[in-house]
Formats: sequence, structure tokens, C-alpha cells
Amino acid sequence: MTPFDAAKAIHLPELVRGMGHKLTPQGASYGSSFCPKCGQGKENSNKVSLFTSNGIWRWKCFSCGSPASSSIDWVAATLEITAKEAVAFINGKSSAPVPSMKWTPGEIPTPELSASEKDKQYEAFAEVMAKVIPGLGCEEAVNYLDKRGIDKKLTREAHRRGLVYSIPEDVGRAKGLLMARAGEALLRKSGCLKPNSEWPGIAFRPIIFPQWKTGGEFRLTRNPRSSSEPKSIRMGRLHTPWFWTGRPEVRSIILVAEGALDGLSVVQMGWKGHVIALPGASAWNDDWFPRISVKYPGFELFVALDNDPAGTSNTRKILEGADKHGIKARRFSPEGFKDWNDALRAGVMI
Ligand SMILES: [Zn+2]
Repeated sequence: MTPFDAAKAIHLPELVRGMGHKLTPQGASYGSSFCPKCGQGKENSNKVSLFTSNGIWRWKCFSCGSPASSSIDWVAATLEITAKEAVAFINGKSSAPVPSMKWTPGEIPTPELSASEKDKQYEAFAEVMAKVIPGLGCEEAVNYLDKRGIDKKLTREAHRRGLVYSIPEDVGRAKGLLMARAGEALLRKSGCLKPNSEWPGIAFRPIIFPQWKTGGEFRLTRNPRSSSEPKSIRMGRLHTPWFWTGRPEVRSIILVAEGALDGLSVVQMGWKGHVIALPGASAWNDDWFPRISVKYPGFELFVALDNDPAGTSNTRKILEGADKHGIKARRFSPEGFKDWNDALRAGVMI
């Protein structure tokens, strides 16, 4: 393997974290508010996506449009050095020009899963969902969402529709429930229990917003303990978004980006059509265009992402894609607010 290939093959998320930048897990990918080309965005903007393609980690920026690039490009742009110098830095042959960046090659044992290993993990996660979800209530969700402006009646309706569940807020009880229903072996196989860890990450996040039967968003009810602790994590295969069925005669679908809390917020604000809630502004899947045009012919898509550079650039891409598939679409932003839940809590109605 050439030094260039070795540098490209490293685990980019570990490198980025090692260089002092925060990452938010998004399914099998990561989001970052920092872009080496256009700088730091809002802390929760996730304008940069880190993802794998053919087993190699790459990144792209939805804010400046920087195309899919390698680990070498990341380091060269961040440290303002040449590609050759970046290769030497990544391979541990030279130290960082910036002392605070203490990347050490060799400390990155987290191997990227192959496609078939990932499939097995997704299958195991779907099995966890099938064993854990049936019979779960929603009381923790009702109380938490009530504080975020969502009516208790609406949360109970979402629960009736299979769109929200909760597990105990006490992590000991939550872990006990997960262990009893799914079992330790399956929790490990599904990636819920990391090697060397005794605590499933989802035990800390009592609110569950399923995405079909294969994945879901898991949300904290307390404040994050540090800025690197994500409020929500996404697990499993996210090939179907969280979908609220509205009144069919309204013939409109709204697309929101901050997960199911934003989805419930627009329903609470009076939206009568269907709702698609994406886990993050960059999580749109182009495969959903044909599904929309076949299942909801003639419906108008209201692209209601956040009012920030990432939201704007993703909106542009989704509007272009909708146009290609003959779907009527327009931008519909929470004017003057960070996201729809902020707008809801300020008393705005749609
Ligand atoms: Zn950028």
C-alpha cells in the first residue's frame, strides 16, 4: 500500500475527533459543524457529512458545496499544508503544525464494517426493535414533549400510530428492560452495546421515534452533559423516514429536518397534510422522490428545513430533485426561528 493509499484508508471520524472537532453520529455516517473549506457553522448545523463509499471514508460539505473528498484533503485544508505533507501527518511521519491537534495514528482500532457486516448489524437491530417495542408505553415521551409544547393528546395519538414510544428515564431500569427483552448477545450484535461497554447507548435516551421497523431516533430527556453528547442518536437502517399521515384531501407533504420533534411541532402548529421528519438536514434520500410521485401523485412538497446555510443548500438540492421527478415543491422555512419547535414555543401557527 502506498503512503497515499494508507492515509486515505484511515478512519476519518477518529482523525477529525483527534483534531479537536465534534461529530454527531447519523446512522452509519457522522455530521460536523466544521468544514475545513468554509469554517465553523452553528454548533448543531451538521453542514459536513462524513460517510463511507466502497469502504473508504470521505466527507462533503453541504454549505460550501465542497465535493466528496478524502482524509488527505481534510487534513491539507484544515492545517493549510500540501497533500504530501498531509499524508506524512496522517501516517504519523510528521507532527501537527498546530500543537493542540494531537492525532496519533495507531489509536484507531474502530474498523469500518463491510457492507455485509453492516447488513447483519442492521438485521440484528431490526430484531431488537421487534423485541423491545411491542407493549411499550409513552408516559416519559408525553411528559417530555409536553414541556416542548406538544399536547399530551397529540403525543398519545402519535403513540397509537406507532410513531413514539418511551422506556424508563432511569438508566438502570432502561438497561434492565433492554437486557430482559432483547438479551445481551443481540444488543451486542446490533451495535447497541459497543465492545468493552456495559451500557447500551439507547438506554440513556428514553424517547423512541421509530423509522419503519428497521431503525429509529432515540432522544435524551435531560440536557446533554457536554456539547459533544448528542441529544438524539439514530440507529439501524433508516431507509424510511418518520412519516405522519395527515388529511389526504390536503394534498401536501411538509419536510422537516430536526427529527420527529420538529415533525410533531408542525402538526401541533396546525399543519393538516402529511409530514416527513428527517434525522438531520442532509439525510434526504433521492430514492424517496419516485416513492412520493407514485404514492402521492399531484401532492405539493413543502421543503421546511432550518434557516441556516446547510438548510438552504439542502433545500436547493431537494427542490431541483423534485423538479426532475415532476413533483411540485417550494421552500417553506420557519422564518425568524432556528427550527419548528422554537417557532411552536413562540406561539406561531401554520
Ligand atoms: Zn464548507
